Amino acid sequence: MRIELDLKVKDILAQDLQKGVPILWKDGFSETESLNEGSILKLRNPAGKFIGKGYVGTQNKGIGWLLTKNENEIIDTAFFQKKITNAVKHREDYYNNPDTTAFRVFNGEGDGIGGLTIDYFDGYYLLSWYSEGIYSFKEMILDALDISVSSKGIYEKKRFDTKGQYLEDDDFVKGERGEVPLIVKENGQNFAIYLNDGAMVGVFLDQRDVRKKIRDDYSNGKTVLNTFSYTGAFSVFAVAGGATKTTSVDLAKRSLSKTTEQFEVNEIDVEKQDIIVMDVFDYFKYAKRKELAFDVVILDPPSFARSKKYTFSSAKDYTNLLKDAIAITEKNGVIIASTNNATFGMKKFKSFIEKAFTESNRKYAIEEEFSLPSDFRTLPLFKEGNYLKVLFIRAK
Ligand code: SAH
Repeated sequence: MRIELDLKVKDILAQDLQKGVPILWKDGFSETESLNEGSILKLRNPAGKFIGKGYVGTQNKGIGWLLTKNENEIIDTAFFQKKITNAVKHREDYYNNPDTTAFRVFNGEGDGIGGLTIDYFDGYYLLSWYSEGIYSFKEMILDALDISVSSKGIYEKKRFDTKGQYLEDDDFVKGERGEVPLIVKENGQNFAIYLNDGAMVGVFLDQRDVRKKIRDDYSNGKTVLNTFSYTGAFSVFAVAGGATKTTSVDLAKRSLSKTTEQFEVNEIDVEKQDIIVMDVFDYFKYAKRKELAFDVVILDPPSFARSKKYTFSSAKDYTNLLKDAIAITEKNGVIIASTNNATFGMKKFKSFIEKAFTESNRKYAIEEEFSLPSDFRTLPLFKEGNYLKVLFIRAK
């Protein structure tokens, strides 16, 4: 058993934790330098009353996470097993759905352990460790996972430093190595997944519901521009939904071969689609000059991006991005605007949209609103955990 360190925290943090906020804010401690990654803290309010047990694991968000409010609960394999088994139970519908074989099994604090996520890819499990602190529990957590599920193989991503940066490594942990690429299904479509090829595996699972909506209700007979397209996952769903043509734009050179591959594993004729390796902001200029217009324009930028010519911050520049998109959207077309920036909420996101349309002299109507899908469990009292915001906007 790990040693537990008795520690008084400031009243404001104690109150937050009591309410159900799961994170240990740095400001809630008089000092944090003496704390070691992976230490278990027995947290007390200034009067000495027990509040809960947490662990030290430094991320940009805070210095650790609350694990239990029960003073008698010991943080051991059985503790982790209980959390994982419970998480698995919540995903029963996903496990039972043969059309979708990739989903999140364990979503950090939403499933009771901040700093750890576990994704499922057709029998393989991918653990992401967001601090050295949580990584120090690796053996217990692997044992707990073994007891809770049967897996073909296990992979991991170490995203230790405070910016969540990925550490390059052989990410295979144990079991059997999966095929490369591994083909998984999502609502009947295929994705080629690389579990051991850098930080990203080829698809962002949190956009699953959005992709389905695009395929089922927004693509038939439409031209679709997919910006910041990465491996073209939105384009695949658009073609599957009957889009007459998709145009995928991303500045990463790999996006060409990656997008081609995702089309191919879905038996889509790549020749009929455009895949353009280019800075999106240059593409907008080009499209305006050529007077191009699309029925559907998808915007899914990273929160921050710096290219040779431009710096983009979604908190500051989303309105301008929308204006660029509006300029090349057909009358009665649709803009699908997405952001994963946790520092602002839906209300502010909608204010960017209002401003962009007003300044473009176009009317609009919001037709669909998405946040995280149900496998990305979140806590109502921890808004930062519910980062995804997606709007389908009819541009009149
Ligand atoms: N929409 C994608 C995920 C986007 S990830 C999906 O659903 O799978 C963000 C992508 O933006 C990355 O692939 C990155 O290469 C790209 N990117 C960042 N800045 C860019 C820019 N200025 N122009 C074009 N692509 C950019």
